[in-house]
Amino acid sequence: MDLNILVLPGDGIGTEVTREAVRVLRHVAGKWNHPLHIAEGLLGGIAIHRTGSPFPEETARLAADADATLLGAVGLPEFDNCPPEKRPEKGLLGIRKALGVFANLRPVRAFAALLDSSPLKNALVEGTDMIIVRELTGGIYYGTPRGISGSGPETRAVNTMTYTRAEIERVSHVAFRLARGRRRKVTSVDKSNVLENSQLWRRVVTEIAVEYPDVALDHLLVDNCAMQLILNPRRFDVVLTENMFGDILSDEGAVLAGSIGMLPSASLGGRKPSGAWVGLYEPVHGSAPDIAGQNKANPLGAIGSVAAMLEYSFGLKEEAASVNAAIEAVLGSGRVTADLRPSGAPATTEQVGEAVCAAIG
Ligand code: NAD
Repeated sequence: MDLNILVLPGDGIGTEVTREAVRVLRHVAGKWNHPLHIAEGLLGGIAIHRTGSPFPEETARLAADADATLLGAVGLPEFDNCPPEKRPEKGLLGIRKALGVFANLRPVRAFAALLDSSPLKNALVEGTDMIIVRELTGGIYYGTPRGISGSGPETRAVNTMTYTRAEIERVSHVAFRLARGRRRKVTSVDKSNVLENSQLWRRVVTEIAVEYPDVALDHLLVDNCAMQLILNPRRFDVVLTENMFGDILSDEGAVLAGSIGMLPSASLGGRKPSGAWVGLYEPVHGSAPDIAGQNKANPLGAIGSVAAMLEYSFGLKEEAASVNAAIEAVLGSGRVTADLRPSGAPATTEQVGEAVCAAIG
């Protein structure tokens, strides 16, 4: 299968972890004989420096042409005081919107070798294997009217939480289809005891569930879900929720995995004529200016994002499984970066990438 990939290394450790992710991608493509075509583009701070825009038109064109896009991270401290439209992060919102990726998937697994890295008790975390499906292009982050008006004690801030049936339906289908390839359970999270928005959410998800009689559905209020994620994370298979709840819950999920550097993500939109997802793949972490340029960032979240790309954009399940197994093997070997607190000398970013390739064989 031809793999046409756009790589956007971005800023800071984005360039370092992406280099290792691409190393693994090349290795997999070579081993399974998939012709690989990689284009590289600009996004974020580096794009501002080179073109004046965080999301140049050329990058939009390359992303539209690619089968899938692999992103590092964006953000440079020198832009911290700039207005939002001049910041590198604007590039991230821009590409998500341009690709129409409405479902953000964040797998959260407790790797056996990392149980001690979690602040939670091993017995609670062990065996955790869930995927959080967060609606990514609707809800309160995008709703209008919004803004701050008035003055003095009458100063008022407004945000609007809004969803249409169609928006809820399409992300629900993503969650139910995913559950079919897993343990066949969807937990939908809302605040339907208070919000009309959540009442519609619950009603639509329940209706969609009828089309998937082989998948069990339960509902949790978001406050209870926040508690259950810590008390009983093994109860979750696929967690389906709206934009803001998903933003918060998925960072809580990160604690279960041991380090933010471990977490991959996939943002999916519609399907291409071939049936493949339109996909944007990136580690969850940012550009980490505090460790950038030191060859010590953990590349496993970026490498896990390659596994997600192979599975969701190309349906290459065996290849994806080999990458995930290699990540697990490397964790077990103890050859890991400093954030995972190895007992011996920490490995470099590059050494971890090489070790993953060696473990794939
Ligand atoms: P961050 O994720 O970059 O870093 C938070 C902490 O985690 C830091 O101490 C960092 O060293 C550590 N860390 C992160 N990734 C790591 C890895 N792979 N290996 C080892 N340690 C790792 O978050 P931040 O410091 O809040 O943000 C820094 C910049 O990144 C900001 O400009 C922010 O806007 C941007 N950001 C971008 C994205 C993105 O591109 N998707 C996401 C979050 C933050």
